[in-house]
Amino acid sequence: MNRLNFKLEATASGSRARAARFTTAHNEVLTPTFMPVGTHAAVRSQRREDLLDSGSQVLLANTYHLMLRPGVGILGKFAGIHGFMNWPRSVLTDSGGFQIFSLPGSRTLQEDYAEFRSYVDNTLLQLSPERSIEAQKIIGADIMMVLDQCVPSTVEHAVARKAMELTHRWAHRSLAARGESAQAMFGIVQGASYLDLRVESARVITDIPFDGYAIGGLAVGESSAEREECTATVSELLPQDQPRYLMGVGTPLDLLEAVHRGIDMFDCILPTSLGQQGLAFTSLGRRDLRRAAYRDKDGPIDPACVCYTCRTHSIAYLFHLLRVHESQVWQLLALHNIHFYLKLTRTMREHILAGTWLPFYYSQRAILDARDSYGKAVTHVTKAMRRKDKLTRGRYEVIVRDEVGFIRDKTSGEVMHPINNPVEEARSLYVEQSRLVERLQTPAARPLVVWDVGLGAAANAMAAILAVEGSPHAQRPMTLVSFENDLDSLELALANIGWFTHLHHAAPRELLASDRWINRAGTVEWLLQKGDFAARKFAAPAPDLIFFDPFSFKTDSSLWTLAAFRELAGLCTPRKVELFTYTSSTSVRAAMLAAGFHIARGRGTGAKTETTIGLSPLAAAAAHSHELLGAEWLAKWRRSDAQAPHGSLPGDTSWHAAVSGHPQFAAGSG
Ligand SMILES: [Zn+2]
Repeated sequence: MNRLNFKLEATASGSRARAARFTTAHNEVLTPTFMPVGTHAAVRSQRREDLLDSGSQVLLANTYHLMLRPGVGILGKFAGIHGFMNWPRSVLTDSGGFQIFSLPGSRTLQEDYAEFRSYVDNTLLQLSPERSIEAQKIIGADIMMVLDQCVPSTVEHAVARKAMELTHRWAHRSLAARGESAQAMFGIVQGASYLDLRVESARVITDIPFDGYAIGGLAVGESSAEREECTATVSELLPQDQPRYLMGVGTPLDLLEAVHRGIDMFDCILPTSLGQQGLAFTSLGRRDLRRAAYRDKDGPIDPACVCYTCRTHSIAYLFHLLRVHESQVWQLLALHNIHFYLKLTRTMREHILAGTWLPFYYSQRAILDARDSYGKAVTHVTKAMRRKDKLTRGRYEVIVRDEVGFIRDKTSGEVMHPINNPVEEARSLYVEQSRLVERLQTPAARPLVVWDVGLGAAANAMAAILAVEGSPHAQRPMTLVSFENDLDSLELALANIGWFTHLHHAAPRELLASDRWINRAGTVEWLLQKGDFAARKFAAPAPDLIFFDPFSFKTDSSLWTLAAFRELAGLCTPRKVELFTYTSSTSVRAAMLAAGFHIARGRGTGAKTETTIGLSPLAAAAAHSHELLGAEWLAKWRRSDAQAPHGSLPGDTSWHAAVSGHPQFAAGSG
């Protein structure tokens, strides 16, 4: 009998991350999920309403502590923990194994039971699998855990094996003790940090018909690399169609890594315990609110959070409460941190379901690990750091608005993607408009070639790579060719990566190091063409799509001339090519038309109502959904004083006839 009615909803492409749902006696649980720790039938300092409000679906309570206080007799009187604490959603109880073996004080271990002294009244108590399960039944846990023997992950192999084997025998006894109860029960895989033991334990435990499986005995001394390897190895051996729970883990980054490796459920005391120390987890990384830099900061600790604390109090006020040791600050920070964990697991779930897990995973890895990389007033940092030259390189400098970085050319004063968030603009103007992801869903003999003219800080290139990595249905490889004559802008952005979150990925550094990056699956190749586009374009594979995003005529004048577009059109004419660029300048459109491109209106961005799409004649003749410029634009152009393409010679007016007589304006077309 499957007591939880587990349903696997989606598994991410290129990852073991999965989204699922199951139903307990009290509610439906959507995974991945985080379970706040309510050891003593209370999450420290948090009201029931706050926990409900945070979206907590399952609370974790502890059998060992509840047996000592208030005692199962009291809990029984209140119809279990749900009645006692008036909690309407699920409860998972740990068996007490971890506490018996980790808390100070003497204990003895026999085959039948562990014996220890109560920290409440020093009486001698025994805990066997049968007694633990009996207590968990009375507590009324929706999910009970088997009694296990937990040893530090660093013990010797022989000790770890002995504990593991006892855990296996106790697992059978725990399940037998559950009997016909409708409460669900999870088995626990042990084996310390020894992969051979972990594999053996996973095989033995998954042979026992539990309702879900946990990985225990981690987060007790091993390195995060060891833990991640162990998690990946064990999770691979657990059944697909049952929940997987990684006990006692961890930081937000640990959760992200574990979800990537196939884990569904977590518990950890960090949101509350670190809150007590003045630490907050935020969408921008970890913040230590005791730092003097926060003394006068207005605004919430996390601009992306809607919890009570963030809605109500400024950073400066929380800093002050910490300074005067006002106890409510623990409550306020724990409340925020719990919200953050729950929101993080919900967001992970959304990305898994939407097929965008991998780009999310890559972008979050660096963000979740960041520590106070922002925090101070950005203008202040900018000034201080500029003195150290960290914010300038060659002809470029970094400017920061709302914690987003932009690259400015100091000589011309021009800013890359100045209007919007560069990453948003890249996604909208280039990736979405070009229907890049859809194009890759049709198999073809050769890779789709995308030219990225003006690599800059790699906003367009990374938007393309992240979109492709996030698309589970790609059938056709992509070759992305970035052209750049001055790599200082990318180097500069990488040196200030906290403000350029799209660079949290292995690809940009690899590209700089070796002019080439290929993803693990071999489906995305990224090539760097260093030097002037005018010359380098002949060395690259012919394009299907062009993201034409150099600085404007003011800075990169040679790229926008009639002669330059004629050369480009020469390369594009034998093929179906679509070109996307951010400008809607009349003279640029005239130059492109005169060069032989057909011109359509591109979508707007920021305050700009239009951008420009160029189509090679073959692309214009094929089916497309772009809106070509018509007679109205031509009439406007005739009246314009910016008729002449950039760089056209005074004596040469051949462009005029080429624009006026362009086939796209012929009667009946457009
Ligand atoms: Zn908050």
